Amino acid sequence: MSRNVLVFAESRNGEIRPVVLEAITVATLIADGASITAVVMCDQISMDLQILAHYGADLIFVLEDAKYLPYCSEIYAQALFQVIQEVHPDVILFSHTTIGKELAPQLASMLKAGLISDCTSISNKDGLSFIRPVYAGKAYERKRFIGNELMLLTIRPNTFKKRNPDYNRKANCVSFVPRDNVVSNLLQTIVKNTVDVIDLTEANIIVSGGRGVKSAAGFAPLRELASVLGAAVGASRGACDLKYSDYSMQIGQTGKVVTPDLYIACGISGAIQHLAGMSNSKIIVAINTDPEAPIFKVADYGIVGDLFSVVPMLTMELKKM
Ligand code: FAD
Repeated sequence: MSRNVLVFAESRNGEIRPVVLEAITVATLIADGASITAVVMCDQISMDLQILAHYGADLIFVLEDAKYLPYCSEIYAQALFQVIQEVHPDVILFSHTTIGKELAPQLASMLKAGLISDCTSISNKDGLSFIRPVYAGKAYERKRFIGNELMLLTIRPNTFKKRNPDYNRKANCVSFVPRDNVVSNLLQTIVKNTVDVIDLTEANIIVSGGRGVKSAAGFAPLRELASVLGAAVGASRGACDLKYSDYSMQIGQTGKVVTPDLYIACGISGAIQHLAGMSNSKIIVAINTDPEAPIFKVADYGIVGDLFSVVPMLTMELKKM
């Protein structure tokens, strides 16, 4: 069955976020030949929006206004609500990012529609159904919508492989100006810490540290390895609680959920709450002095040793390559 799909094309610093291209790929599976509309909202367009068409969008709604920076959920939700009334999609897709996690339930409530969040797999057999992790990733559930009402979904980043782009595809860009009916506005966002340049949820490689790094300064060798690998730096809650690292870097059940190609866990024991945030990484390398550490049960490669000698050794060898 074909369905019209609307994809929220999240942007940052004037660029479409890579996770959006994964969401558009998912949209092509769901649309099954029907139309795919992407919605871009930003203060100033400085990107080539046709990238959305290369991955499958047929139509691009462009909402360009200074009020879209900084992000304010009320302004975004009100504007998207009006786009949805214009486009009449059957399915609305968001990436499961901080913004997607906030906007999707807000819109589901405004539209009185259902939402399935954090989807990691989709099946079109016997009707559409969606797989998502539950109980901190210990189990997976398959869910489907009842009836053919409007469906909202969030898609876990780095889970769906992007389709190959077709550079001959072009889409019409429609400029859309929603009625301004919001009752509050965001005046200022105070950024306390700008710790990491690479977004953890989008990183292909993560070097992560736990209590085993022993101090904030102990993260230095991890940062050096990360810079050689072009990786982001993450942390366990143990490390964050002890102020070795900022909470914005925390990975796990109450932190960020990541699915990089390579996750290097340094001095992290592998508590279930940490595994909930990283066990879907494609390759896991664990460095730990304790051969019994539970992290080794999920690791593809385990190194029993002191991270302060293993990590610099790895960095040195990688620098030679
Ligand atoms: P530890 O468990 O203390 O492990 C440190 C490891 O470092 C040990 O295995 C040790 O052998 C090793 N080590 C020590 N020195 C070295 C060395 N020189 N070289 C190599 N290895 C060394 N945790 C999270 O991470 N994320 C979450 O989101 C999260 N959410 C939680 C939610 C709840 C409700 C609760 C109750 C807990 C949560 N936790 C979370 C905490 C979790 O239970 C663990 O306490 C935490 O993950 C432990 O962090 P750690 O592995 O860094 O520390």
